[in-house]
Amino acid sequence: MRINTDLHTHTVASGHAYSTVDEMAKGAFRKGIKLIAITDHGPQMPGGPHLYHFGNLVVVPDKLYGVKIIKGVEANILDAGDLDLDQEILALLDFVAAGIHRLTGHSLKNKKEYTEAVIQAMENPYLDLITHPVQQEYPLFLEEVVKAAAQNNVILELNASSYSPKKNYTRGIKSESLKLLQLAKKYRVNLAINSDAHFHNEIGEYSSLNFIFESEFFEKELIINRSPSHVIDYLEKRNKRINKLKKSV
Ligand SMILES: [Zn+2]
Ligand SMILES: [Zn+2]
Repeated sequence: MRINTDLHTHTVASGHAYSTVDEMAKGAFRKGIKLIAITDHGPQMPGGPHLYHFGNLVVVPDKLYGVKIIKGVEANILDAGDLDLDQEILALLDFVAAGIHRLTGHSLKNKKEYTEAVIQAMENPYLDLITHPVQQEYPLFLEEVVKAAAQNNVILELNASSYSPKKNYTRGIKSESLKLLQLAKKYRVNLAINSDAHFHNEIGEYSSLNFIFESEFFEKELIINRSPSHVIDYLEKRNKRINKLKKSV
Protein backbone atom coordinates (compact mmCIF):
# COMPACT_ATOMS: atom_id res chain seq x y z
CA MET A 1 0.00 0.00 0.00
CA ARG A 2 1.28 3.44 -0.92
CA ILE A 3 0.60 6.24 1.55
CA ASN A 4 1.07 9.66 0.04
CA THR A 5 0.70 11.86 3.12
CA ASP A 6 2.84 12.37 6.22
CA LEU A 7 1.52 13.84 9.48
CA HIS A 8 4.79 14.06 11.42
CA THR A 9 7.78 16.02 10.07
CA HIS A 10 10.37 18.41 11.52
CA THR A 11 12.13 21.47 10.07
CA VAL A 12 15.22 23.42 11.15
CA ALA A 13 13.00 25.06 13.76
CA SER A 14 13.20 21.89 15.87
CA GLY A 15 16.92 22.48 16.46
CA HIS A 16 18.03 18.97 15.45
CA ALA A 17 16.38 18.70 12.01
CA TYR A 18 17.98 20.01 8.86
CA SER A 19 15.53 21.21 6.20
CA THR A 20 13.46 24.36 5.86
CA VAL A 21 9.69 24.33 5.25
CA ASP A 22 10.39 25.15 1.60
CA GLU A 23 12.85 22.25 1.27
CA MET A 24 10.39 19.92 3.02
CA ALA A 25 7.63 20.86 0.57
CA LYS A 26 9.95 20.40 -2.42
CA GLY A 27 11.13 17.07 -0.98
CA ALA A 28 7.53 15.93 -0.56
CA PHE A 29 6.69 17.01 -4.11
CA ARG A 30 9.65 15.05 -5.52
CA LYS A 31 8.45 11.91 -3.73
CA GLY A 32 4.81 12.23 -4.76
CA ILE A 33 3.67 13.05 -1.21
CA LYS A 34 0.61 15.29 -1.48
CA LEU A 35 0.13 16.48 2.10
CA ILE A 36 2.49 16.98 5.02
CA ALA A 37 2.03 18.25 8.54
CA ILE A 38 4.89 20.37 9.85
CA THR A 39 5.12 19.30 13.49
CA ASP A 40 8.15 20.93 15.02
CA HIS A 41 8.95 20.11 18.63
CA GLY A 42 7.41 22.10 21.44
CA PRO A 43 9.46 24.81 23.23
CA GLN A 44 10.64 22.54 26.06
CA MET A 45 12.79 20.53 23.61
CA PRO A 46 16.42 21.71 23.93
CA GLY A 47 17.04 23.91 20.88
CA GLY A 48 13.32 23.88 20.08
CA PRO A 49 11.34 26.85 18.76
CA HIS A 50 10.09 29.79 20.76
CA LEU A 51 6.33 30.21 21.18
CA TYR A 52 6.42 32.92 18.48
CA HIS A 53 7.22 30.17 15.95
CA PHE A 54 3.78 28.64 16.51
CA GLY A 55 2.00 31.98 16.75
CA ASN A 56 3.34 33.03 13.35
CA LEU A 57 2.80 29.82 11.34
CA VAL A 58 -0.06 31.51 9.48
CA VAL A 59 2.54 33.16 7.22
CA VAL A 60 3.42 29.75 5.73
CA PRO A 61 1.31 29.11 2.59
CA ASP A 62 -1.30 26.35 2.77
CA LYS A 63 0.14 24.86 -0.38
CA LEU A 64 3.74 24.83 -1.66
CA TYR A 65 4.83 23.10 -4.90
CA GLY A 66 1.37 21.52 -4.96
CA VAL A 67 1.87 19.97 -1.52
CA LYS A 68 -0.73 20.76 1.13
CA ILE A 69 0.95 22.05 4.30
CA ILE A 70 -0.76 21.42 7.64
CA LYS A 71 0.59 23.62 10.42
CA GLY A 72 1.08 21.78 13.65
CA VAL A 73 3.32 20.87 16.53
CA GLU A 74 4.75 17.83 18.25
CA ALA A 75 4.25 19.05 21.78
CA ASN A 76 6.02 17.55 24.74
CA ILE A 77 3.96 15.59 27.25
CA LEU A 78 5.01 16.72 30.72
CA ASP A 79 3.98 15.74 34.26
CA ALA A 80 0.26 15.18 34.75
CA GLY A 81 -0.22 15.08 30.98
CA ASP A 82 0.37 18.80 30.56
CA LEU A 83 1.65 19.96 27.17
CA ASP A 84 4.41 22.55 26.78
CA LEU A 85 2.17 24.97 24.85
CA ASP A 86 -0.84 26.60 26.42
CA GLN A 87 -4.37 26.28 25.07
CA GLU A 88 -4.31 29.72 23.37
CA ILE A 89 -1.35 28.70 21.21
CA LEU A 90 -2.75 25.21 20.52
CA ALA A 91 -5.96 26.90 19.34
CA LEU A 92 -4.00 28.57 16.51
CA LEU A 93 -2.75 25.28 15.04
CA ASP A 94 -4.31 22.93 12.47
CA PHE A 95 -2.95 19.76 14.03
CA VAL A 96 -1.58 18.89 17.47
CA ALA A 97 0.61 15.84 17.99
CA ALA A 98 2.31 15.11 21.30
CA GLY A 99 4.77 12.63 22.72
CA ILE A 100 7.07 12.04 25.66
CA HIS A 101 10.67 13.11 25.05
CA ARG A 102 13.79 13.18 27.13
CA LEU A 103 15.36 16.42 28.44
CA THR A 104 12.06 18.30 28.31
CA GLY A 105 11.64 18.83 32.05
CA HIS A 106 9.18 16.08 32.97
CA SER A 107 9.85 13.90 36.00
CA LEU A 108 7.96 10.81 34.85
CA LYS A 109 9.73 7.71 36.15
CA ASN A 110 8.05 4.46 35.21
CA LYS A 111 5.63 2.72 32.87
CA LYS A 112 2.63 3.54 35.07
CA GLU A 113 3.52 7.24 35.15
CA TYR A 114 4.24 7.41 31.40
CA THR A 115 0.90 5.75 30.69
CA GLU A 116 -1.03 8.05 33.03
CA ALA A 117 0.57 11.16 31.53
CA VAL A 118 -0.25 10.06 27.97
CA ILE A 119 -3.86 9.29 28.93
CA GLN A 120 -4.23 12.65 30.68
CA ALA A 121 -2.76 14.43 27.65
CA MET A 122 -5.42 12.77 25.49
CA GLU A 123 -8.09 14.60 27.43
CA ASN A 124 -6.83 17.88 26.00
CA PRO A 125 -9.49 18.75 23.40
CA TYR A 126 -6.84 20.10 20.99
CA LEU A 127 -4.83 16.89 20.90
CA ASP A 128 -5.02 14.92 17.64
CA LEU A 129 -2.25 12.34 17.77
CA ILE A 130 0.14 10.59 20.15
CA THR A 131 3.56 10.20 18.55
CA HIS A 132 5.59 7.01 18.91
CA PRO A 133 3.41 5.34 21.57
CA VAL A 134 5.76 2.37 21.20
CA GLN A 135 9.25 3.27 22.34
CA GLN A 136 11.84 1.53 24.47
CA GLU A 137 12.64 4.53 26.59
CA TYR A 138 9.05 5.30 27.60
CA PRO A 139 7.06 2.05 27.47
CA LEU A 140 3.27 2.32 27.88
CA PHE A 141 0.50 -0.04 28.93
CA LEU A 142 -0.87 -0.19 25.41
CA GLU A 143 -4.35 -1.51 26.07
CA GLU A 144 -5.08 1.37 28.48
CA VAL A 145 -3.72 3.87 25.98
CA VAL A 146 -5.74 2.42 23.10
CA LYS A 147 -8.95 2.44 25.18
CA ALA A 148 -8.37 6.10 26.10
CA ALA A 149 -7.65 6.92 22.45
CA ALA A 150 -10.99 5.34 21.50
CA GLN A 151 -12.79 7.39 24.14
CA ASN A 152 -11.14 10.68 23.19
CA ASN A 153 -10.99 10.08 19.45
CA VAL A 154 -7.21 10.42 19.40
CA ILE A 155 -5.00 8.99 16.63
CA LEU A 156 -2.11 6.69 17.56
CA GLU A 157 1.04 6.64 15.48
CA LEU A 158 3.07 3.93 13.78
CA ASN A 159 6.39 5.76 13.56
CA ALA A 160 8.68 4.74 10.70
CA SER A 161 11.73 6.50 12.10
CA SER A 162 11.59 4.22 15.17
CA TYR A 163 12.63 1.34 12.87
CA SER A 164 14.90 3.26 10.51
CA PRO A 165 18.06 1.26 9.74
CA LYS A 166 19.93 4.58 9.53
CA LYS A 167 19.47 5.36 13.20
CA ASN A 168 22.15 4.13 15.58
CA TYR A 169 19.48 3.40 18.16
CA THR A 170 16.24 1.53 17.44
CA ARG A 171 13.50 3.25 19.37
CA GLY A 172 10.73 0.83 18.49
CA ILE A 173 9.80 -2.68 19.62
CA LYS A 174 8.28 -4.67 16.76
CA SER A 175 6.20 -6.99 18.93
CA GLU A 176 4.66 -3.97 20.69
CA SER A 177 3.87 -2.20 17.41
CA LEU A 178 2.10 -5.36 16.24
CA LYS A 179 0.21 -5.46 19.51
CA LEU A 180 -0.80 -1.83 18.97
CA LEU A 181 -2.10 -2.78 15.54
CA GLN A 182 -4.23 -5.57 17.03
CA LEU A 183 -5.57 -3.38 19.83
CA ALA A 184 -6.43 -0.56 17.43
CA LYS A 185 -8.44 -3.05 15.39
CA LYS A 186 -10.23 -4.32 18.50
CA TYR A 187 -11.14 -0.86 19.84
CA ARG A 188 -11.56 0.83 16.41
CA VAL A 189 -8.89 3.47 16.97
CA ASN A 190 -7.45 5.52 14.13
CA LEU A 191 -3.78 5.05 13.35
CA ALA A 192 -1.37 7.19 11.35
CA ILE A 193 1.66 5.99 9.41
CA ASN A 194 4.25 8.77 9.73
CA SER A 195 7.93 9.25 8.98
CA ASP A 196 8.99 11.64 11.79
CA ALA A 197 11.33 13.06 9.11
CA HIS A 198 14.19 15.27 10.31
CA PHE A 199 15.44 15.80 6.73
CA HIS A 200 13.42 16.28 3.56
CA ASN A 201 14.39 12.98 1.95
CA GLU A 202 12.84 11.04 4.85
CA ILE A 203 9.32 12.32 4.13
CA GLY A 204 6.95 9.47 3.27
CA GLU A 205 9.66 6.84 3.87
CA TYR A 206 7.68 3.96 5.31
CA SER A 207 9.57 0.86 4.19
CA SER A 208 10.82 0.22 7.75
CA LEU A 209 7.15 -0.46 8.59
CA ASN A 210 6.79 -3.29 6.08
CA PHE A 211 6.31 -5.70 8.99
CA ILE A 212 3.15 -3.70 9.81
CA PHE A 213 1.83 -3.62 6.23
CA GLU A 214 2.42 -7.37 5.95
CA SER A 215 0.73 -8.22 9.25
CA GLU A 216 -2.56 -10.12 9.18
CA PHE A 217 -3.92 -7.46 11.55
CA PHE A 218 -3.24 -4.55 9.22
CA GLU A 219 -6.47 -2.81 8.27
CA LYS A 220 -6.23 0.00 5.78
CA GLU A 221 -9.49 1.61 6.90
CA LEU A 222 -7.99 2.48 10.29
CA ILE A 223 -5.14 4.50 8.75
CA ILE A 224 -6.36 8.09 8.97
CA ASN A 225 -3.69 9.35 6.54
CA ARG A 226 -4.24 6.68 3.88
CA SER A 227 -5.04 9.51 1.44
CA PRO A 228 -5.08 13.34 1.46
CA SER A 229 -8.89 13.35 1.31
CA HIS A 230 -9.14 11.21 4.44
CA VAL A 231 -6.86 13.65 6.27
CA ILE A 232 -8.87 16.62 5.03
CA ASP A 233 -12.15 14.98 6.15
CA TYR A 234 -10.63 14.36 9.55
CA LEU A 235 -9.43 17.98 9.82
CA GLU A 236 -12.82 19.37 8.81
CA LYS A 237 -14.56 17.39 11.53
CA ARG A 238 -11.85 18.40 13.95
CA ASN A 239 -12.30 22.08 13.15
CA LYS A 240 -16.05 21.91 13.70
CA ARG A 241 -15.44 20.36 17.10
CA ILE A 242 -12.79 22.97 18.01
CA ASN A 243 -14.93 25.90 16.84
CA LYS A 244 -17.77 24.73 19.06
CA LEU A 245 -15.33 24.56 21.92
CA LYS A 246 -14.04 28.09 21.26
CA LYS A 247 -17.60 29.48 21.20
CA SER A 248 -18.45 27.82 24.48
CA VAL A 249 -15.44 29.41 26.26
ZN1 LIG B 1 8.95 12.58 18.98
ZN1 LIG C 1 9.07 13.91 15.89
